[in-house]
Amino acid sequence: RQEQYRRLRDVPAVTADGVEIGLHMNAGLLLDLPHVAETGAGSIGLFRTELLFMVASKFPRIEKQTELYRSVLDAVGGRPVTFRTLDIGGDKILPYMARPDEPNPALGWRAIRIGLDRPGLLRSQLRALLRAGGGRVLRIMFPMIASAAEFDAARAMVAREVDHMVRHGYQTPYELKLGAMVEVPSLLWELDELTSRADFMSVGSNDLMQYLFAVDRDNKRVATRFDPLAPSMLRALGSIAEAGHRHGIPVTLCGEFGGKPLGALALVALGYRNLSMSASSLGPVKAMLLGLDAADASAYVGDLLASRDGAASLRPALTAYAERH
Ligand code: PEP
Ligand code: MG
Repeated sequence: RQEQYRRLRDVPAVTADGVEIGLHMNAGLLLDLPHVAETGAGSIGLFRTELLFMVASKFPRIEKQTELYRSVLDAVGGRPVTFRTLDIGGDKILPYMARPDEPNPALGWRAIRIGLDRPGLLRSQLRALLRAGGGRVLRIMFPMIASAAEFDAARAMVAREVDHMVRHGYQTPYELKLGAMVEVPSLLWELDELTSRADFMSVGSNDLMQYLFAVDRDNKRVATRFDPLAPSMLRALGSIAEAGHRHGIPVTLCGEFGGKPLGALALVALGYRNLSMSASSLGPVKAMLLGLDAADASAYVGDLLASRDGAASLRPALTAYAERH
């Protein structure tokens, strides 16, 4: 199997009916980076910057951060990297930062909420990212965005930092793209506002699942109670892809769901053309895609969702479909 996946490295991910799918890799540590070349991933679709902070012994200063981000960009040889700004709080703890005692950390002070409330932290990160991206393509995305207004606030911070750079004679990125993670369900009803502001969207299916079904992703009692192949989740995912197509902005999915062959099948059927996943998932997903008729799968999933049969999940039907094909 491993050998078979290795052989697929340089084979483009194109479905049997000719639909090209971008396959990208999730990373968070420098030691993940050699996997980009080994797996043939198109880019780093999600770089979880908080991991660099979690393994440090104190909050890295701007110079240190700049050096880290620069080494990430250097290590992937010109492929794009989508840096996600600090997603701390909730389940992700920095040992050297006091954490508030919160009754519901997953619903609490985390990610972009900390970034906007304590702008010093986010500002230093943005400054370092922009410096590392000087003269290059730089992609930044913000986690846990819950409204278009929050995206605007984050974007305004970037604009200020770019001004600051220009005034101080730093080289700015050659191209700067700003995106939002779509992982808080409120955004589903503000997709038109978001798509007219963001350069790209990336769906965090792990958190979207957690917040859509109100199931703590780290609580074993409930975490697997609902299936991401449930009709409600698939309709939510479908409407995000559709909004992206309508406004012509790229949509990627970077949660675990896209790294499962059956999940990837459903996502391609729903209109996703870019998936980002852990290195070990790239081979199995590509192998599945090569045999998939995307148009047929799309019609099949469309019919299943239209049947309104009240099934808890499309998994049995999709498993049977995958076996038949
Ligand atoms: C997600 O929520 O799906 C995601 C990709 O981010 P994380 O797992 O880091 O929260
Ligand atoms: Mg998330």
